[in-house]
Amino acid sequence: MKAENPVTTASDARSQPDGARPDLSNANIREDLAGQGRCALVHLPTGRTCLLPLRHHGPCEFHRPQEADDVAAGR
Ligand SMILES: [Zn+2]
Repeated sequence: MKAENPVTTASDARSQPDGARPDLSNANIREDLAGQGRCALVHLPTGRTCLLPLRHHGPCEFHRPQEADDVAAGR
């Protein structure tokens, strides 16, 4: 049995800012909400944002951009 391990290189790894979460590399993060300890994951197809705490359990809960703005503004 021949096991072929494709060589994975970091050649396509884009330089990420400090604090980037590799597990979310294919998603967008609202930095203003992330700075408030929120998950802040943006569901790109809908533009909705997860307002749950960072590293919350379970799936993300996406809210409308207006709600996210309210949270970001501390309202
Ligand atoms: Zn989330």
